[in-house]
Amino acid sequence: MMKQSYYSFSEYLRERFNCRVQRISINAGFNCPNRDGTLAGGGCIFCNEKGFTRFPGTTLSLQEQIASSITYARQRFKAEKFIAYFQNASNTYADPRRLREVYDVIREFPDIAGLFISTRPDCIDEDKLDVIESYAADYEVWIEYGLQTIHEKSLVALNRRHTYAQFQRAVVATARRKIKIGSHVILGIPGETGEEMMLTARAVAALPVAAVKLHNFHILSDTPAQRLYEQGRIILPGEADYVRLACDFLEYLNPECVIMRLVSSARPDILIAPQWMNQKQKVLDAIEREFQRRGTRQGSRYESKE
Ligand code: SF4
Repeated sequence: MMKQSYYSFSEYLRERFNCRVQRISINAGFNCPNRDGTLAGGGCIFCNEKGFTRFPGTTLSLQEQIASSITYARQRFKAEKFIAYFQNASNTYADPRRLREVYDVIREFPDIAGLFISTRPDCIDEDKLDVIESYAADYEVWIEYGLQTIHEKSLVALNRRHTYAQFQRAVVATARRKIKIGSHVILGIPGETGEEMMLTARAVAALPVAAVKLHNFHILSDTPAQRLYEQGRIILPGEADYVRLACDFLEYLNPECVIMRLVSSARPDILIAPQWMNQKQKVLDAIEREFQRRGTRQGSRYESKE
């Protein structure tokens, strides 16, 4: 097997926990201000609630979701420890008392070692950070903020309804705490040039962001993006273009930044395009080959501030 040219999440977990750790996704039933009418009703143009990998629209309790995922991960991956990943919608979109009630469920499962919370950068404040940081004594705690891009025109085109400045503020406030920060970024946003994507890479690299999750822009059914795609108004990068963009992006990152994901995946029944992304291993191999061809790796173009 080729040595990876980037700092993968699995490598990070092995170093950190010294055993097989599996992340388990949880749907805590949170909504999103961009879907419930507070900011907008339609959500981001690419968002389909069914796209969250596990338990979309579930009626299972949190305990049932966690127990069934732990049983599965123990059998399938021989996992010994688990990370509770609050994934669906915006997982800090409630008052702090409610957040504690929800996150406290993990205390019922002694083999959970981490609390990971995915949310929007405009759904956080000091009171919520107090709650989240209180778990850091017992758990590895992360917040993953959806940024997607630093460019306001793209944030508007995606109907994100938050700004880059809000992301910066959330990162600065979170970095003062015992909480690690992850950031979600999309490559191939319609209308963005490669240069603009690399400005996002450099901006993320200059912030105290400990991990990046890269997504390729893709089209799910029943989304505004599907309509635009079918009207020919969205052009998606091909696989080879995406591979080059992903390598470029990683070259600008800090070599110590954990790469939580390099390419999206989606349920085949709701994925409209591109189909190549669901052949994940093939894309990962192509990214590795591209790094070998260039003789570079993650961080090759990183500009350290020290
Ligand atoms: S912020 Fe997240 S949950 Fe809300 S509409 Fe956008 S992608 Fe969907």
